[in-house]
Amino acid sequence: MSPSAAELLSPLFLVAIISIIVVHMVVCYLVLDMIDQQVDSNDEISRMDAYDSGLSVKELQGISCFYLEGQANSSMCVICLDSLCEAGLCRSFPPCNHVFHAQCLDPWLAKKTTCPTCRTPLRP
Ligand SMILES: [Zn+2]
Ligand SMILES: [Zn+2]
Repeated sequence: MSPSAAELLSPLFLVAIISIIVVHMVVCYLVLDMIDQQVDSNDEISRMDAYDSGLSVKELQGISCFYLEGQANSSMCVICLDSLCEAGLCRSFPPCNHVFHAQCLDPWLAKKTTCPTCRTPLRP
């Protein structure tokens, strides 16, 4: 036997409906709040990325390139741990003059702006 309309509208039934609606609203509010916080922290991460996102092509071109070929140089590139004598094209890091292969330093500087050897920042 199905319940009649009068039974459906009984106070107990209304209280049940209202509490379901209230619980639903609270859950929605909490979920939206969580999403808001996630968006906030994503913003923070992208701000940090923008701050230390490596060099632009223009800045990279401002770093001098030179050949070490023929020079007596026993130092090595700390990025690939190979000798700089064999290297061909090299770059020195302007603030501290540490020398690396250009082919090793370029991808490094695309991600970071600190010296791979001594961590001196390129930007003051
Ligand atoms: Zn190298
Ligand atoms: Zn250095």
